[in-house]
Amino acid sequence: MHNNFNKNILLLKDVIIEEIQHYQDYSEIRISMPVRTHTCPQCGSVTEKIHDYRFQIIKDITFLNKPLRLNYRKRRYKCQRCHKRFYEKNNFVGHYQRMTGRLIATVVERLRSNFSMASIARDFGVSTCTVTRIFDLVSYKLNDLPEVLSIDEFKGTTDKGKYHCILVDPIQSKVLDVLDRRSLDFLLKYFSRFKNRDKVRHIVIDMWQPYKLAIHKLFPQAQIVIDRFHYVRNCIWALEKVRKNLQKSLPYAKAKFLKNCKRLLLTHSGKLNSDGKIRLANILLFDDKLRLAYILKEKFMEFVRSKDVAAASDKLEQWLQLVHAYKIPEFFYLAKTITKWKEEILNSFSVPYSNACVEGFNNKIKVLKRNAYGYRKFSRFRNRILHCCS
Ligand SMILES: [Zn+2]
Repeated sequence: MHNNFNKNILLLKDVIIEEIQHYQDYSEIRISMPVRTHTCPQCGSVTEKIHDYRFQIIKDITFLNKPLRLNYRKRRYKCQRCHKRFYEKNNFVGHYQRMTGRLIATVVERLRSNFSMASIARDFGVSTCTVTRIFDLVSYKLNDLPEVLSIDEFKGTTDKGKYHCILVDPIQSKVLDVLDRRSLDFLLKYFSRFKNRDKVRHIVIDMWQPYKLAIHKLFPQAQIVIDRFHYVRNCIWALEKVRKNLQKSLPYAKAKFLKNCKRLLLTHSGKLNSDGKIRLANILLFDDKLRLAYILKEKFMEFVRSKDVAAASDKLEQWLQLVHAYKIPEFFYLAKTITKWKEEILNSFSVPYSNACVEGFNNKIKVLKRNAYGYRKFSRFRNRILHCCS
């Protein structure tokens, strides 16, 4: 990963400070540069002949919580040979810039926080448009893939696809890249540009078929690991679906009662206190289908807690047989998915990797999204995530 932002020109070097004035909303420093021999840009001869002065207001970093302005008395030299007039050299403001290099660098640093561009603009006394323009100088490009790669997705709000992919190094706990789409064509195109693909040993994903196809094609040596959170979530969804379908068939009071029992049903039974256990038993007497669905959930979680691959494999087989025997339609679909991804799910019991750290990044992304009222331009949103999370 590299950040092509140029961090030169941070300090005001060799500048003569003539006067400092403090106003209500800002402070102003009058500055100039010492007289020096300059080389004519047109004919190359040297000169010290001063032609005239201009004043230029340059925005600078904040000083004592107030924006600082430089009032630069800018000198023009005149070439005595060809009569060309030209501005003196300085190292604090670019040719057509109206702000100092160190202000630009400070804004870029502040953009690593969750603050919105608008609030950063306010702090530095510049426009939001300026902050955006500065941020567009920042760009990230991923060059190498790590040994273990996590791929997850989050809901986007930009002009591109509905879901964006996030690539994370789970060992370094670092966001590597954000992709706007997750279709097979896109994934193949994206990953094929990496030359060190054979270095990747494990890839943690959710059960999204294009990931699997892309990995088989481009990372034949890598082991696919399904993130634990995702198959647990699918099981929770199945149980929830059973409860909700049952609720629909019940009169209002009973439906409401059942709705209030949601947490009781989802909590691991071993973690309930005696009161909770009694209440749970009452709910489970309520309906046969709900009781069987609950048993399937508990058995599934037993499988999830397996110590090793062999135990997990045994428990999963038992669970699949139980689904077959209980005939709860909501769990058939889950069993189908689990069977399809069985090998990759069992891999999650042989390695310690998961997408747990991605959760933290997803929360940070949510804050960024909220503070920016949705980034409409994907490339900018991507850069901001990488700027804040790597
Ligand atoms: Zn000249």
